[in-house]
Amino acid sequence: MGEVHWRELYREVVDTGLCTGCAACVMACPRDVLGYTDDYFPVQVGEGMGKDECVIGDRGCDICTRACPRFRAWESELDETLFGRVRGADEVSGVARSILLARTTDAAIAEVGQDGGLVSALLVWGLREGRIEGALTSRIEDSGRGPFDVVPTVVTTREEVLAAAGSRYTYAATPLAMAEAEERGLKELALVGMSCQASINASLPARKVNKYARRIALTLGLLCSKTFTYEGQRQVLADHGIDIADVVKINIKGVFQVWTRDGGYTEIPLKLFHPYTREGCRLCPDFAAQHADISCGGIGADDNWTLAVVRTARGEEWMKGVIDAGLVEVRPGEDDPVAMGLLAKLSTVSRKRWPADRLPEDQRAPALLPVVS
Ligand SMILES: Cc1cc2nc3c(=O)[nH]c(=O)nc-3n(C[C@H](O)[C@H](O)[C@H](O)COP(=O)(O)OP(=O)(O)OC[C@H]3O[C@@H](n4cnc5c(N)ncnc54)[C@H](O)[C@@H]3O)c2cc1C
Repeated sequence: MGEVHWRELYREVVDTGLCTGCAACVMACPRDVLGYTDDYFPVQVGEGMGKDECVIGDRGCDICTRACPRFRAWESELDETLFGRVRGADEVSGVARSILLARTTDAAIAEVGQDGGLVSALLVWGLREGRIEGALTSRIEDSGRGPFDVVPTVVTTREEVLAAAGSRYTYAATPLAMAEAEERGLKELALVGMSCQASINASLPARKVNKYARRIALTLGLLCSKTFTYEGQRQVLADHGIDIADVVKINIKGVFQVWTRDGGYTEIPLKLFHPYTREGCRLCPDFAAQHADISCGGIGADDNWTLAVVRTARGEEWMKGVIDAGLVEVRPGEDDPVAMGLLAKLSTVSRKRWPADRLPEDQRAPALLPVVS
């Protein structure tokens, strides 16, 4: 990428509010001079360094900048790498080979899966077939903020996949789990992550961060409008008489749904959470996890199916694998016009967040491709 290093990444992405906190830069930093703050941003930790300074960058290291899925003309660059072309103006949710509704036939996975259990079924199958040695995903844990928070983790067994299943609406930068995978000598990995994290599926090969590009055998993206701060979520729950320590499951289906240990179920208006939108989500234009191999969401009319946007050849091949193994059943996405409509609508809404005018003067290349909305 020439003469661009942490200084440019910091000024153009972190300081402008475009950084989602995906932690690709932290994962890729070869000298461990980037850390990660409690409010989910990368930070220079080199002694005596200013926020935008990096002694390694000054010597020519540009890996953080190359790994970033929001740097400069990221969208067209990543599209080209993953699909061999940039999306058409009518492809508001990104390039897709097929859109399916999928659900697992494995009762234990179905029980714990957030929607159709597709993500967990793919991981279980990949581990069983030796296609991956582990997956970078998240698990529920007290991160130091309090109970029912979410942290990055590595799962390597069916039991661990099942224990990690379901959705949490606070943020875990799953690429950070790469450090543990490296320590454990795991080389073939799946990456599970929200839209922002899933884009590293393309930024790593696009800009030749080969060490990590080679390790990611499959990326499963989660459709995502936003995440909330832990404190905000806890506060709104408390306002409704719910102690976050008692929560066992959360889902969002138009309203914020909460299940508690005592068997209780509460619905809370989603708008009460919006003031607590995590900072890194505010300008994110990607609802549809547009650079994943398979993007998975729960906007279907029927709660027990995962909407799966299959984008790449390897995504297609994994889908064929789980279907042929009888682990997943599918039907065409068009069976659910509401889900298809919401996919387009929510993708369009998110794309309007991108603040072209916030980009520095010298950054001429448009980062976001035009779409028909
Ligand atoms: C924060 C967030 C917001 C979402 N917003 C939408 C939305 O607006 N519309 C929509 O259609 N779908 C959304 N989804 C996706 C949806 O909730 C399901 O994850 C998806 O449908 C897959 O369901 P499944 O049953 O196949 O997954 P499962 O088999 O249950 O597997 C889910 C996987 O996601 C991982 N995971 C859960 N929470 C997190 C997290 N916070 N960070 C990282 N990894 C996590 C789990 O560890 C597990 O591996 C969102 C998911 C998340 C995490």
